[in-house]
Amino acid sequence: MAFEVPPLPYDYAALEPHIDKETMHLHHDKHHQAYVNNLNAAVEKHPDLGKHSAEDLLRNLNAVPEDVRTTVRNNGGGHVNHSMFWNIMKPGGGGDPTGIIAAQIRKDFGTSDDFKKQFNETTAKQFGSGWGWLIWDGSKLKIITTANQDSPLSQGYYPILGNDVWEHAYYLKYQNRRPDYLAAWWNTVNWDEINKRFEQAKK
Ligand code: MN
Repeated sequence: MAFEVPPLPYDYAALEPHIDKETMHLHHDKHHQAYVNNLNAAVEKHPDLGKHSAEDLLRNLNAVPEDVRTTVRNNGGGHVNHSMFWNIMKPGGGGDPTGIIAAQIRKDFGTSDDFKKQFNETTAKQFGSGWGWLIWDGSKLKIITTANQDSPLSQGYYPILGNDVWEHAYYLKYQNRRPDYLAAWWNTVNWDEINKRFEQAKK
């Protein structure tokens, strides 16, 4: 198989109480796996696609054959977005930003709380399923949202961090209370990994 779900880098219960164990099982083992299965089915039809990384396919969707373009957009996006998501969280994460991203957040948003508030407000308003993102536009950090599994890579931006606001990410524990999930999620974030992604975004 061309693409595989990466193993979760910590235990399924490790992000409790902020994200519950059952949600992590369903989200990683079922939802992410389904995106990968669908992506692989598209690659079976067009084996040349398997020579590229999923990130590169998303960066250049117009080069993907039209009959599988929407499948790659949705499921390649699902694969890449979730692969990032598991890695930007960790047990005992959270706290204020550290490293080079901390200085840039201060410059572009003010305090850490100002930044989180703006991210949460923007992302809470995403209608239906989608993601909230922090991206680097070449001169400053920006908060954007995308619908479905659309990746900022397809808009030319490397996502520094993203939070999943599909109901499958939070409904078991938070039901309809998306803002509560968004607030709690910051207790899981892995600022070391986010700093690595910021370095990558600036390249
Ligand atoms: Mn998800």
